[in-house]
Amino acid sequence: MAAGNAIRGTRVGSGPMRWAERGEQAPRRSVTYWCANGHATQPAFAAEVTPPILWDCPRCGLPAGQDAQQPPERPRAEPYKSHLAYVKERRTDADGEAILQEALARLRQRRG
Ligand SMILES: [Zn+2]
Repeated sequence: MAAGNAIRGTRVGSGPMRWAERGEQAPRRSVTYWCANGHATQPAFAAEVTPPILWDCPRCGLPAGQDAQQPPERPRAEPYKSHLAYVKERRTDADGEAILQEALARLRQRRG
């Protein structure tokens, strides 16, 4: 009985719930990030949180940094580029067509 009350006592008035219960906002600060395209974004963080070094630009998706003069460079490896996109980059369309015809010719030969 006494132990149960003690546990309940520690829960009330501690932790992040307190802000919501009292209808108050936790202190916030906004940090400005710039991307390589010159977009600025100002996400707000709780005061006790250390803002991340990089932030994704909501307009173009590039990484944005806190230094307006030296925004982070575009990442060289673009993760969403498909294998086909890489192949197309390396070969011209004409090359691709030639390779396709060659492969078809070889197939026909094999069939006799
Ligand atoms: Zn941007």
